[in-house]
Amino acid sequence: MTITAASAQLPVIIIGAGMAGLACANYLHRAGRPVLLLEAADAVGGRVRTDVTPEGFRLDRGFQVLLTRYPEVERLLDYGALDLKAFRSGAVIRLPDGKQTTLQNPLQQPTAAFSALTSRIGTLPDKLRILSLVQHMRGYNSAQLISRNSTNAQTTLEFLRHYGWSEQIIDNFFRPFFGGVFLDRSLSTAANFFEFVFQQFVIGEAVVPALGMQQIPEQLAARLPAGTVRLNSPVAAVEGLSVRLTSGETLAAAAVVVAVDGEAAARLLPAATDAALVSTPKPLAWRRTTCTYFAAPAPSGKPDKLLRLNASPTGLAHNVAFPSDVAPAYAPAGQRLVSVSTHGEHGLSEAGLTAELRRELTAWFGPEAAGWPHLRTYELPFALPEYPAGQPARQALRLGAHLYRCGDYAAYPSLNAALASGREVADMILRA
Ligand SMILES: Cc1cc2nc3c(=O)[nH]c(=O)nc-3n(C[C@H](O)[C@H](O)[C@H](O)COP(=O)(O)OP(=O)(O)OC[C@H]3O[C@@H](n4cnc5c(N)ncnc54)[C@H](O)[C@@H]3O)c2cc1C
Repeated sequence: MTITAASAQLPVIIIGAGMAGLACANYLHRAGRPVLLLEAADAVGGRVRTDVTPEGFRLDRGFQVLLTRYPEVERLLDYGALDLKAFRSGAVIRLPDGKQTTLQNPLQQPTAAFSALTSRIGTLPDKLRILSLVQHMRGYNSAQLISRNSTNAQTTLEFLRHYGWSEQIIDNFFRPFFGGVFLDRSLSTAANFFEFVFQQFVIGEAVVPALGMQQIPEQLAARLPAGTVRLNSPVAAVEGLSVRLTSGETLAAAAVVVAVDGEAAARLLPAATDAALVSTPKPLAWRRTTCTYFAAPAPSGKPDKLLRLNASPTGLAHNVAFPSDVAPAYAPAGQRLVSVSTHGEHGLSEAGLTAELRRELTAWFGPEAAGWPHLRTYELPFALPEYPAGQPARQALRLGAHLYRCGDYAAYPSLNAALASGREVADMILRA
């Protein structure tokens, strides 16, 4: 066993180079503190990764977007260098009877969008309620919305019903749209998170970097000095101010930040946590999703850059996106990338799900969809930590005199929360 850092320059050791760990490392480095990031995987990013296939498709590991007005993202990322590409605000909604209706800018220009609505999506009072909610949001900033006491004891579904929306618009708009964001079509996610996300869609855009979502963590990693990030370095245990890798190597730290996902934190933290200061994290419940990619021929006309949402309660293709319509480098020339998300347990083999999705896509897009080659399927059982009604938007981040944690599971399930918790831990360390 070797202690490999000289005590005069002991770094803050951050375990996990996902968005939370990278944010923490960036803020500490900016303040002149030495940092060492230990990452188990072969690249940075955690749940924000992109694979490039031999044919040249860029496959994000699960369909995911960045919302441009997330306060933490605005604070930290260089948007110009990411070359962000925006989806159009709105969606094409496939109703349970198979008919489709297009909602353009429903949250950004609610008057125009919902006045053009057919009665198939919602009632006239529903349309007025959208306006009223948009108005109501203007009275709050995002930090106030996510921590609102009046709504955080309600589920999103309770909030919507309490607000007076019809079951028709809940089923035809809110379930497919926000159920896709929460990976939870039951809308049992806390209402304060709904309000936060709703506002983000009203004021900002949903974007992806031109070369894939992994560009975001790569941008943060590139700002750190060479040697700061050690990949393929899984940590086995935290023992006071030393960190033991699974290789047996032991490293000494000035402080330790556990920036892993909630599942790994539950394994790493209990032994290291001072029970007098914090209760150990309970095992987490997760929202699951499956992302199936297909290749299609490039569209002949100008793409509409809209998401496709399925309002049917029985379909497996919950939402369909064409990332290459928005960011052309997601597909090789002449081709189009099709991303199909299925939320929750589907109970099928990969081949069974692919066959079933092809059948559904044929009903949506015509017989040619039956021949779209399958590229890859990502099963993501640990996509988002559940965020039930009543859960605070921030849990304890300082766990001991020199032990901290950050990550979305200690806040709420979003990139914004992961980055915020990383920044807050860096601030605590700098003040300690
Ligand atoms: C399919 C999908 C879609 C999503 N869509 C959106 C979206 O549209 N908008 C949005 O805001 N958010 C979205 N999210 C959520 C967002 O990606 C996460 O909230 C965020 O990336 C979490 O970051 P994190 O740093 O907290 O955790 P993670 O990304 O899980 O990072 C933890 C890191 O710790 C590492 N690690 C674990 N154990 C060890 C160990 N023992 N030693 C060393 N390293 C270890 C892991 O390898 C990982 O790199 C989505 C997530 C998924 C999966």
